[in-house]
Amino acid sequence: MQIPTHVKFEDRELPPLEEGQTRLVVAAGGVYRERHTQIFTSSARVEGRGLQLADHYQYCRLHCGKLNRAMHRAMLSFFYHAHSLHDGEAALVLLYDPDRGRFRWHCPRQTIEMHWSYGRWWTSDHIRFDNPPVLPDGFLHFGDAHLHAGSVAPSVTDLEDDQDGLHIIVADVNKQPRYHVDFVVDGRRFHVAPSVIFEDPDCLPLSHAPRRWLQQIHVRRYVPYSWSTPERNKNGREEDDDPPYRSRNRYSDNGDQSA
Ligand SMILES: [Zn+2]
Repeated sequence: MQIPTHVKFEDRELPPLEEGQTRLVVAAGGVYRERHTQIFTSSARVEGRGLQLADHYQYCRLHCGKLNRAMHRAMLSFFYHAHSLHDGEAALVLLYDPDRGRFRWHCPRQTIEMHWSYGRWWTSDHIRFDNPPVLPDGFLHFGDAHLHAGSVAPSVTDLEDDQDGLHIIVADVNKQPRYHVDFVVDGRRFHVAPSVIFEDPDCLPLSHAPRRWLQQIHVRRYVPYSWSTPERNKNGREEDDDPPYRSRNRYSDNGDQSA
């Protein structure tokens, strides 16, 4: 059954409905059947079944290939060592070169917050970081990966903030890492099995992490006014620490890696 079909956009007028014409209009409110007969002109919203439409399904298949084991372990190693520094989260930005089918990590400057309470420092369960302002030639911003200190499930903040792209959450990085991976496109979140995106989903962290990446971690300590102060921030103000990682470490600096 061939019925002329028009999609109605906000900035575009539909052509006039001529006498004798029947057409469908797909608009924000659904599908409308429009008729212009000798007796009436109408536009009636109709259900799909009334139009003998078939079911359709949302789906997403990735064609980008997998992160190789070296990149995967670089991510785990960074998260493992970052977590050992502050017990909190850490994040990496994932870039992709579609022409060469290559991934690359970008480690952004990232800030974790800690506050003093009940005689100890508590680490917040979120991390702040910016996406790279300039991308290497040929690379696109493809998504990100971040560490959770607790559940592997996306937080409310993750669900609200995730833009289109691949989003990897890692938990239990100091045991057998667990993953939650989603690909978001057009605002829809599609779950991705770890075996789809990782060459070796069971691999473990290395014993070291790239030094330049660890130097991107900044801890912002906050002491509420109501608490007696520990050794610093005596007026209840915020203050940035130096990066917690020092150059005494003898680990090699792998920097960003390409798959
Ligand atoms: Zn999260």
